[in-house]
Amino acid sequence: MLIYDLPLPALTSILKGWNEPSYRAKQVWEGLYQHFYDSPDQFTNLPISLRTKLAENLNFSPLKPKIIQDSSDKQTQKTVFELQDGQVIETVLMRYDPNTYIDHGRKTLCISTQAGCAMGCVFCATGQQGFQRHLSSGEIVAQVMYYARLLCKSDCQSDLHEVVTNIVFMGMGEPFHNYENTMAAIDRLNDPDGYNFGARRFTISTVGLVPQIKRFADEKRQVNLAISLHAVDDAARLAMMPVNKRYKITEVIDACRYYVDQTGRKVVFEWALIQGVNDTPEVATKLASLLRGLICHVNTIPLNPTAGYGGQAASRDRAQQFKATLEQFGITCTIRMRRGIDIQAGCGQLAGSVLFDH
Ligand code: SAH
Ligand code: SF4
Repeated sequence: MLIYDLPLPALTSILKGWNEPSYRAKQVWEGLYQHFYDSPDQFTNLPISLRTKLAENLNFSPLKPKIIQDSSDKQTQKTVFELQDGQVIETVLMRYDPNTYIDHGRKTLCISTQAGCAMGCVFCATGQQGFQRHLSSGEIVAQVMYYARLLCKSDCQSDLHEVVTNIVFMGMGEPFHNYENTMAAIDRLNDPDGYNFGARRFTISTVGLVPQIKRFADEKRQVNLAISLHAVDDAARLAMMPVNKRYKITEVIDACRYYVDQTGRKVVFEWALIQGVNDTPEVATKLASLLRGLICHVNTIPLNPTAGYGGQAASRDRAQQFKATLEQFGITCTIRMRRGIDIQAGCGQLAGSVLFDH
């Protein structure tokens, strides 16, 4: 059993079953989520007998780093992890704010929720690989702990150590297709007695699964929501994103309006700018009218080229024109930079190359 899969009450009841005093579970919890220990030997505040039991019964290292790549400017690092059953996922650290390209001291971690993805978006390297399986909550949490540990190096107590400041669910997989485990991971990372990562510093990105958007709205979490829209009419969206067969654009937008009404929070729309496909001023104008009255922001990124899709990135001029058109209608827009492209830091791209190498 993976220790990161356990909420504190479950860990407590396991230790109780071993006749340990109740405070021991809390010590283990703090070791995991405040000191980032990943081996029972490191829990020197525990009796050796308990450390042995932990080692015998619980798995502390579900992720095997297989490839670690730094971008040439060292600002982006991508790790491909092998899971215990041989599946591969990837996690990306960005030492900057991906929206402004500026280092505000931000360290954004981009994590995976599934091995592969069932949604089949044609432009996406993960979608091109197909679905392997959901990650458990612990496998999601372990990606964060790996980087928390790496950033603080050996000196977690010093003020100088780096910390993860933002977590985005924009790695491999569709988080709302693995809803329970994604939320369980957020709850575990959010625990004030553990890692204590603020809800507002998470962003979930979804392809637009309507029932889950509504459920998420009803839960009134503080977590940010981003929707991958990429098109303004159903035929164009369907050609890129098979999910549009199930949920039409107006249904997705209606669910977003419901979300804003329920939570008072804005929605971010993601838009991969593809040359000649969705980068024209006409499309920008239609998008502005679709989003009218909604508290939102549009986050564009020039398409990352992938092996399985012929589309090209929009030019810088087109991107700027797109942004300017939206802003004329009062909709804020950012152009995200494709940093880290030299390490295939786009969604699923490096794990894809591992799979295809086999
Ligand atoms: N499954 C979720 C989250 C992971 S993908 C979702 O689709 O929202 C994270 C973001 O990367 C999404 O907005 C997705 O549309 C975008 N994306 C995928 N492939 C891309 C590519 N080749 N170029 C630019 N953006 C891409
Ligand atoms: Fe899945 Fe998101 Fe890629 Fe679409 S863009 S295939 S939903 S990971």
